Amino acid sequence: MLNRVLLEQTLAPFGVAADGAAFARLDTYAELLTETNRQFNLTAITEPDAMTVKHFADCLSLFGFVDFPEHAKVIDVGTGAGFPGLVLKLYRPDLQVTFLDSTKKKLGFIESVLSAVGLQGETVHLRAEEAGNKPQYREQFDFATARAVSDLQHLAEYCLPFVKKNGLFLSMKSVAADEEIQSANRALHLLGGKIEQDKQFLLVENMPRRLLFVRKISQTPSKYPRPSAKIAKNPLK
Ligand code: SAM
Repeated sequence: MLNRVLLEQTLAPFGVAADGAAFARLDTYAELLTETNRQFNLTAITEPDAMTVKHFADCLSLFGFVDFPEHAKVIDVGTGAGFPGLVLKLYRPDLQVTFLDSTKKKLGFIESVLSAVGLQGETVHLRAEEAGNKPQYREQFDFATARAVSDLQHLAEYCLPFVKKNGLFLSMKSVAADEEIQSANRALHLLGGKIEQDKQFLLVENMPRRLLFVRKISQTPSKYPRPSAKIAKNPLK
C-alpha cells in the first residue's frame, strides 16, 4: 500500500529510515486507513504515493529534527486519523503516545490499528481545552505534537498546558506563516512557552514545511486553558 522506495527516497535527506518491522507496521496502518476511509471519512489523501509522502514521510521527517528520548511521553493533540502520533508510535514503539481528539470515531480507528500491530496507546476523547485542565494530563508530557489542527494562537492554549516544564510543543505547519507566528508570540509567553527553533524545509519539491519547537520554560498559569467559547472568541494576544 505504501510506496517503500518513495518513502525511503523522501526520507533520505532527513537521515530517517524505517527498518523492515517498522515499515510493516506503517504499511498495515496505511492499508487500514484506506479500507476504513471507504466507510467513513478519515482523510482526503487516498492515492498511495500521495499518502506515502504527505502523511507518512511528512510525519516521519520529525525524527530528522527531534531527538525523542527512549520512552518519552508524547501527546498528539487533534490526532484525527493518527497524524503524527500513530506514525511516531509505529516507528518508535518505545514512545508512550497519548492520542487526543474530540471525535470518537477517529480514536476508534487508532485503537484498531494499534491492536492490529500489537501495540498499546492511550486514547482520550475530550477537547484539548478540557483535557488540559485535568491533573492526569496537565503538565504530564515531554512532548505535545499538533499537525493541521488550528492556528498557533489557539494551538498554544490547547497544547502548552500538557507539556512538562522543559518539555517541547512541536507545531507542524505546511506553510510559512510569519504573521501567524508573530501574533502568537505573546500567547506563547503567557502560557509559559518560547519558540526555541524554527525549521523551514522542503519535504519534497514544492512542499514547504515549517516545524516550530516551543520550549516550555515556565508552568502554565492555572487560568489556562480557558473554556472553548472564550478561546474561540478571544484568542490570546
Ligand atoms: N492531526 C491530524 C492530521 O494532521 O491529519 C488531523 C487533522 S484534522 C484537520 C483536525 C483534527 O483536530 C480533527 O480530528 C478534530 O476533531 C481535532 N480537533 C480540532 N480542535 C480540537 C480540540 N480543541 N480538541 C481536540 N481535538 C480537536
